[in-house]
Amino acid sequence: MTNRVGFYEKEWETQSAAQREKRKTQWLSETVRYAYDHCTSVREKMDKAGVTPDAIKTIRDLEKIPITPKRDLVRLNAEKGPFGGFLGVTPDELKRIYISPGPIYDPHGREEDAYSLRPIFYNAGFRKGDRVINTFSYHLTPAGIICDEAINALGCVLIPTGVGNTEVQLKTMLDLKVNGYVGVPSFLMGLIEKAEQKGYDFKRDFSMEVAFVAGEILPDSMRQTLEDDYHIIIRQGFIIADIGGISYECPEKNGMHFSEHRIVEIVDPQTGKQLGPGEVGEVVVTPLRDKTYPLIRLGTGDLSYYEEEPCPCGRTSKRMMKIVGRVDQVTKVRGMFIHPSQVREVAAAFSEIEKIRVRVDREGAHDIMLFEVELTEDTMRSESLKGKIEGKIREVLKLRGDVAFVQKGTIPQDAKIIEDIRKWE
Ligand SMILES: [Zn+2]
Repeated sequence: MTNRVGFYEKEWETQSAAQREKRKTQWLSETVRYAYDHCTSVREKMDKAGVTPDAIKTIRDLEKIPITPKRDLVRLNAEKGPFGGFLGVTPDELKRIYISPGPIYDPHGREEDAYSLRPIFYNAGFRKGDRVINTFSYHLTPAGIICDEAINALGCVLIPTGVGNTEVQLKTMLDLKVNGYVGVPSFLMGLIEKAEQKGYDFKRDFSMEVAFVAGEILPDSMRQTLEDDYHIIIRQGFIIADIGGISYECPEKNGMHFSEHRIVEIVDPQTGKQLGPGEVGEVVVTPLRDKTYPLIRLGTGDLSYYEEEPCPCGRTSKRMMKIVGRVDQVTKVRGMFIHPSQVREVAAAFSEIEKIRVRVDREGAHDIMLFEVELTEDTMRSESLKGKIEGKIREVLKLRGDVAFVQKGTIPQDAKIIEDIRKWE
């Protein structure tokens, strides 16, 4: 059996919080200085905020630099031309240029592992000799090629199957005894289902052992099926087109460890201030030692939270827990952000719940949350069920909310899952 555990950069992955802070701070100040000197958009936003590179002495100091939301890259590309004022080298030094919708032009530099994906794939369990299908797209956008390069560098044999073509993918998997998969989780599940429709016993006839999935939410139930029924190691990562690898799962599947090559902040989307463990906010990323495309504080628009207690795998980095939604869908209640997906998570935990909505209101100076719940059967109403749902609300939203059972049909079909009825006068 291939050993699929172990560290890609053990010294960094296991260093103390203080050592890591020192190393990343050193890299950060070099990166900010370089970006300020070479990228007009970085210089402009720092000048506008009255902050100089010398003022960035700690990771906390990053708060002084305004965030560049991902959607601004579209505008900046339109106004300033390709790369939007963030290119830190000359265009003729680039290896490739990718085109994301917008268009946003993303430069691929000639540095080794420019997207910092090798550690992510190694720590996900890919090893020399694995035969891997890469089902991400190979044209225009970077996903296919940058994953291909990183896995290839680990000694794996890449089969660039790209998107779609289920029949071809299945035949390839059989003929070449493919044991690795890279792509979105739903496509892997779809391949397995298709194989079984054709009469195969996937576990017996195919050789799949390890899969890296990204790009969409992996439901717990799908993960369980892939792991328990098909014995595939499933690892998730958070990768974005502009920056590459940001965080990754270890064998403990305990959230996604922050990359040793980026600064990942979870911030209040309104103030840009860094939040503490367990607090939901926007994921903001700064690549370190990246001269090609030093996007200082890119706002991803994704919401998540982190935990920092030690992980049994031995890695000491903070871990980004699941993505809970997008910034443009949040509602702020008592200083905390809540998102429709969190409310859906509460509902999904109870088979008795048919429909749910939250009404956020004010009582004096206080925000209150009332969860209206329709049950599949009105006879299921009980104080103990109410207590259990309220407990789940505290667990998932980290806030207290009251539950009121309402009659079936009370919540309109087209109701918003979070209805903010607060009046601010
Ligand atoms: Zn871990």
